[in-house]
Amino acid sequence: MPSLPLPPGSTIGILGGGQLGRMLSLAAARLGFDVVILDPQPNSPAGRVSWRQIVAAYDDFDGLTALGRLADVVTFEFENVPASSAERLADNGALVAPGPTALAIAQDRLHEKAFLNAVGAPTVDFAPVETRTDLEQGLDRLGTPALLKTRRDGYDGKGQVWIRDATDAAEALEALGQRPCILEAAADFRRELSIIAARSQSGEIAVYPLGHNLHQGGVLKTTTAPADISAETEAEARRIAEAILDGLAYVGVIGIELFQLADGRLRVNEIAPRVHNTGHWTQDGCACDQFEQHIRAIACWPLGSTTAHTRIEMTNLLGDDVQAWESIATDPTASLHLYGKTDIRAGRKMGHVNRRRLPA
Ligand code: AMP
Repeated sequence: MPSLPLPPGSTIGILGGGQLGRMLSLAAARLGFDVVILDPQPNSPAGRVSWRQIVAAYDDFDGLTALGRLADVVTFEFENVPASSAERLADNGALVAPGPTALAIAQDRLHEKAFLNAVGAPTVDFAPVETRTDLEQGLDRLGTPALLKTRRDGYDGKGQVWIRDATDAAEALEALGQRPCILEAAADFRRELSIIAARSQSGEIAVYPLGHNLHQGGVLKTTTAPADISAETEAEARRIAEAILDGLAYVGVIGIELFQLADGRLRVNEIAPRVHNTGHWTQDGCACDQFEQHIRAIACWPLGSTTAHTRIEMTNLLGDDVQAWESIATDPTASLHLYGKTDIRAGRKMGHVNRRRLPA
């Protein structure tokens, strides 16, 4: 096991070579670390800015062995990491952060909701669904409309179907491929917020101000932060974040998506055990952004300041939006972040822009 705090010159491994891995790698380099990426796609966005890339599948025995030997700490840019891969890395001497419990909980929406409620982080009501009878009983209890989601592998609004009426039940289960599901009561939310927080190897916690998120077609379009919210909402969100981080004995940055109900109360929608798209505003709004914070947390460094020095509106550049790079580059309020992806596809996250805004 490496000695902590991990000194500059140590090596950090990242499973996943997309934009989150790229921005983590750039932040790690700034702190003097070398980064090795493991990703099946050669010349991945993260691989191109890192010391090395191992080209291998996420469950490839030899690739994971090599990464575990090279890296002092290994982390992830996505949550669906096979448990066996995390074990393989640890067997080869690397610290793995966040740990297996956080990954297992975040990979299954049912376990996630049970855990959240157990630590006092409220969610909407829910029911496990494996069969048509489970679904009918769930609808009786939760009412309609209700949202049926697959327990695993859903993201950006995929793997979920609204049930407007009990007669839609059979069709909804069919549409999700008869997989194990969770039925959720509809949250009557006023807006969607999120909170980005970190816990280090030593148990220190740091929490950023909340962001206010707008989605288009299930995909995040903008985050404005710090969000315009009351001190009570801010305090409640912080309490929720701390309960989750301590409950998981978590190490690293976590993204927590929240619904704010019409009466102002918060409900946790889901947690992402990694840096999060709704935290990109911190790059230009805070002294220590979420990427540096994650590296500090997993390396057991003191955590950085989470105070916002500027109000930011982050806009995702999806697909052809990225063609506007030249005009964005002339905007004195804008900081452009491009991911080095050559292939533009509709809806693909190509970059984002952080625009400085006057305080609300
Ligand atoms: P998710 O994949 O769970 O993040 O859900 C994607 C989007 O669907 C969220 O950002 C919400 O806009 C919406 N959504 C998810 N769960 C619920 C719910 N229980 N009630 C109302 N809307 C929801």
